[in-house]
Amino acid sequence: MNDHAPVSAEELEPPSRGAARARFGGTPTSFLAARAVVGTAVQTDDGRSEASRESEQHRATSFRRKHFPTASATEWRDWQWQVRNRLARLEALERVLVLTERERRAIEAHRGQLPFAVTPYYASLLDPLDSEQPLRRTVIPDVMESVVVSGEAIDPLAEEAQSPVPGLVHRYPDRVLFLVTAFCSTYCRYCTRSRVVGDLGELQPSPHQWEAALRYIAGHTEIRDVLLSGGDPLTLSDDKLQWLLGRLRAIPHVEIIRLGTKVPAVLPQRITPQLVWMLRRFHPLMMSLHFTHPDELTPEAAKACARLADAGVPLGSQTVLLRGVNDSVDTMRRLMHGLLRLRVRPYYLYQCDPVVGTSQFRTPVQSGLEIIAGLRGHTSGYAVPTYVIDAPGGGGKIPLAPDALVGREGDDVLLRNYEGKVFRYPDTTEGAKP
Ligand code: SF4
Repeated sequence: MNDHAPVSAEELEPPSRGAARARFGGTPTSFLAARAVVGTAVQTDDGRSEASRESEQHRATSFRRKHFPTASATEWRDWQWQVRNRLARLEALERVLVLTERERRAIEAHRGQLPFAVTPYYASLLDPLDSEQPLRRTVIPDVMESVVVSGEAIDPLAEEAQSPVPGLVHRYPDRVLFLVTAFCSTYCRYCTRSRVVGDLGELQPSPHQWEAALRYIAGHTEIRDVLLSGGDPLTLSDDKLQWLLGRLRAIPHVEIIRLGTKVPAVLPQRITPQLVWMLRRFHPLMMSLHFTHPDELTPEAAKACARLADAGVPLGSQTVLLRGVNDSVDTMRRLMHGLLRLRVRPYYLYQCDPVVGTSQFRTPVQSGLEIIAGLRGHTSGYAVPTYVIDAPGGGGKIPLAPDALVGREGDDVLLRNYEGKVFRYPDTTEGAKP
């Protein structure tokens, strides 16, 4: 980490917001110019206008020169440099953000798992002044993390109870969740696995740790689908990942391998040509990408997704519905449209799990239903994810949709369309062959 003077008291009390903006990022090269890149007028193949793409490039360069003046552009593009230079201490964070009292108290009081850490790249997307900015809320701790409300649990999905060997969750008949590391480059404050993720988590990424899980998968011929998650599996080195994928591919009944990752959003530099060259040897291999907000759909993220898509990796997205972050039809539509432009198919919209300390993020279920109602029929079906609640206690994902089946009259079912109009469908088997 480069050493800079922390923010002075004078800077914390700027005469105007504009002056502080100039100090922390300035216009027109600040994060503000990089926002709302989806939906601009003249768009290129990744869905951006040339102007917005240029301003985003300027954003990263400006941030690097300001906060990491000794780092070269090559270093900035190196994913390992990004990991080594994560902002993971209060002093480091204060060099790039004006922290609120709530944020500072939360960071100082933090103990245990789910540490805070943000890659320099992702930090360049954060608003230095606005603690309510959606991206900032997802990665910077707040004092509400220490508040536990009724219904919350450390392991709400009862993964530990469905874990036959360490690091493996076998909930559904034909597939398993394989937690291969506890490490993430950037930690989400609403993480479902906050009980295990962290730099020193119990899930150590090593072949020794993985052997028991591999033996279990090999011994259960009903397992045809393995989802690698964690932590973030794409934070493993190419060598380790290749070793692991090779072992899984050697098991005859494993048909598909999936990876769940937030890397394209928080560490897109990780998606190197070498990585995708290695991954394509293990097809059919799919990825579930964790995107939360359209502001994450930067040129860097677009490039990462393009490399994966070009390597034949089917890309789906998983988005957690978060209060004050993405809980509006407009934000969700922009996110889903932007993802499709990056060749990422919206897959799941998750109701936020009742993990301890996450009440500030949870919305009423009705909000999720209204968002789906605002998308379904109003835009391409491909842009509408399935809204699910992962049932507390280990019941698995349960899909939710606004009621379309209004009732029945005789042989007709009554159906409500996206405009609220009711239609009849003749639901009769009359005339069918006996
Ligand atoms: S990337 Fe996934 S595992 Fe890592 S902190 Fe975020 S939600 Fe948790």
